[in-house]
Amino acid sequence: MNDTPIKPKAAERMKIPRQAMDARNAVARSASFAEVNLGFVEQVAMMEARRCLDCKDAKCVGGCPVAIDIPAFIDRVAVGDFAGAADVLLRDNALPGISGRVCPQEKQCEAKCIRGNKGGDPVAIGYLERFVADWAREHGDRRLCPPPKCEKKAENVAIVGSGPAGLTAAGELAKRGYGVTVFEALHEAGGVLVYGIPEFRLPKSIVRGEVESLQKLGVEIETNVVIGRTYTIDQLLGEMGFSAVFIANGAGLPMFLNIPGENLKGVYSANEYLTRINLMKAYDPNSSTPVMRAKEVVVVGGGNTAMDAVRVARRLGAERAMLVYRRSRAEMPARIEEVLHAEEEGIIFEMLADPAEILGDDGGWVRAVRCVRVQLGEPDASGRRKPTRIAGSEFEIPCQIVISALGTRANPLLTQTTPDLKTNQWGYIVTDENGMTSKGGVFAGGDIVRGAATVILAMGDGKKTAGAIDRYLSLNRRPT
Ligand SMILES: Cc1cc2nc3c(=O)[nH]c(=O)nc-3n(C[C@H](O)[C@H](O)[C@H](O)COP(=O)(O)OP(=O)(O)OC[C@H]3O[C@@H](n4cnc5c(N)ncnc54)[C@H](O)[C@@H]3O)c2cc1C
Ligand code: SF4
Repeated sequence: MNDTPIKPKAAERMKIPRQAMDARNAVARSASFAEVNLGFVEQVAMMEARRCLDCKDAKCVGGCPVAIDIPAFIDRVAVGDFAGAADVLLRDNALPGISGRVCPQEKQCEAKCIRGNKGGDPVAIGYLERFVADWAREHGDRRLCPPPKCEKKAENVAIVGSGPAGLTAAGELAKRGYGVTVFEALHEAGGVLVYGIPEFRLPKSIVRGEVESLQKLGVEIETNVVIGRTYTIDQLLGEMGFSAVFIANGAGLPMFLNIPGENLKGVYSANEYLTRINLMKAYDPNSSTPVMRAKEVVVVGGGNTAMDAVRVARRLGAERAMLVYRRSRAEMPARIEEVLHAEEEGIIFEMLADPAEILGDDGGWVRAVRCVRVQLGEPDASGRRKPTRIAGSEFEIPCQIVISALGTRANPLLTQTTPDLKTNQWGYIVTDENGMTSKGGVFAGGDIVRGAATVILAMGDGKKTAGAIDRYLSLNRRPT
């Protein structure tokens, strides 16, 4: 592509409005699993890129946990050099098609964008990242990871879990010349990206494509292997010959409501519900995975998981798919775009309501949720205003399915079989600032260290810890 400096002057760039991304029609999409956002076309991407001020002290980069050179890749988009943009982007991020779709940019890079902080809308960095990743994939001459430049190292590294933390670390270590094997408990690689986040937000072909790029780089992925059951960490470091281990097994153990009626038929954890539908394809009539469908579905929670579960329920035919949350809309941790999309799709938001009991019929099936109204008081330890129940304000919501999406915590399987691995009071693995655990040669990152967080923070941990593993192995290497 030509490299002509066609970017307008800063004052003119400030006049360009933020470009909107087209989305599928809300009525049509609420009965379909096709991707909601349609992406930028080339001209729109170039127009959006020209809004960037190319700041000398680009604050956006500091807001990105994997430190993408944002002004450099946007500069290439602005002049139509999409291959050049891909080269810059892929240097720092092995999973751009994923992070460009699900990263909460409004709280990360875009929150720091100087253009946004001058009073206008920030540059749509996430939309541009997605555009470049998709362009690179569609123009197969771009590999999603640059080929390794350094010599092959003698050591092999084992990675536990193939979510964004594990995959990012795998790519970084393979680029440095290490042999890398990822052990994944499920039958498909991707972690939450494949079993949690639905197809209409993140098509599985995108995840598969980015995983395949890592495999082309030499990363081996062994699925259906549960570390702590199939092999222990000590076996990986001992008889299996790995020189270091990176634990990135996430925090996939669901939390429950702990209210009467939770054992009724028709109650799901969001984890089980979404896994059946996303990973096991229960939405596909040809799939053998069963999942309940109902006219009235209540999802309890206010995060991304709750939003995904309620939008999936709508797509499975719920006439009234309702989100019940015990705080107000302002406190909802879900991404803003997902909240807006859910509203457009007809999701009902029942805010400031706390479920007290799930009510059943004579056959043991869910028939309603009994809730109590709450009011918000002073902020609690999480910094959010604490809900307190209002006496005498009980009401019932008729429904046939209740899905609890209250968050997840650490699964103790792996840590219980590795007694010398220090954990905190919630069962998360304790590490130093480089991801090093209490056990020699063992590192950890992502949700298993932070608690349930975000894709980009997990990727940031993977990248940082890969560097620490490289330093650790270099220091311990005997001269030949
Ligand atoms: C439904 C849902 C929607 C979300 N939406 C968003 C979003 O839009 N944006 C965002 O930024 N974040 C979102 N998140 C959060 C984000 O997905 C997580 O923070 C992120 O995936 C954590 O990455 P991870 O690599 O630490 O772990 P995970 O993605 O959880 O991956 C861990 C992997 O390890 C495997 N594993 C577990 N135990 C073992 C074992 N013993 N042996 C081998 N393998 C094992 C698991 O099967 C899994 O594949 C969402 C989470 C959920 C549940
Ligand atoms: S802070 Fe915003 S305007 Fe400045 S370089 Fe980054 S994206 Fe561009």
